[in-house]
Amino acid sequence: MDTTSQTPPPYQLGDTDEECRYPVRVDDQHHLGLIFRWHGGWFAIPAGQSEALRVGDGGTGKNTAALYLVSEYNEGRIVPQDPAADAPEASRALIGPVPLLHPRLPVNDRNTEHALVAMAALTAYLWTPKGGYPGSDNPWFMECELCHWRGPRYWSHLRGRNQNPPSPHRHPGGCIGADQVRARIAAYQQ
Ligand SMILES: [Zn+2]
Repeated sequence: MDTTSQTPPPYQLGDTDEECRYPVRVDDQHHLGLIFRWHGGWFAIPAGQSEALRVGDGGTGKNTAALYLVSEYNEGRIVPQDPAADAPEASRALIGPVPLLHPRLPVNDRNTEHALVAMAALTAYLWTPKGGYPGSDNPWFMECELCHWRGPRYWSHLRGRNQNPPSPHRHPGGCIGADQVRARIAAYQQ
């Protein structure tokens, strides 16, 4: 979709943190809070608060969630924070093994089984998850072990289809070449 000819939105989104939450700013300096997608809904956490509110659905939810924060700010209900607050989780960097399941995903046999399959496949395909399994169609923060790119991916895109391995085009921004990806990962040679 070409959005270059349209009026830019009245907010800016920063890069996601390891929980795949986007910081929302206005005037490139005032931090209004965080927005994130969780299983078909979009949620917002206003700056200075800890509770997430469901404010949008589906495909348009990112914009809706960001505009919710802008509206709250315009109404004087959000006191913007320093941009340093854009990375509130930086001091809580995940080191070492992550939990099997994302804290918001219910613990049950089905989720546990899917998470174990996903974790094993990520190991085989040289991805390092930075959080627990969030479900197949949900942003999941990853580090590419081939080039150290970091960002949100979806398990539904990483797992391959119809028993074929996943695409060697691993993520935006370019990885090592597809031939090198196949050469480095044993699962492509089976
Ligand atoms: Zn890569």
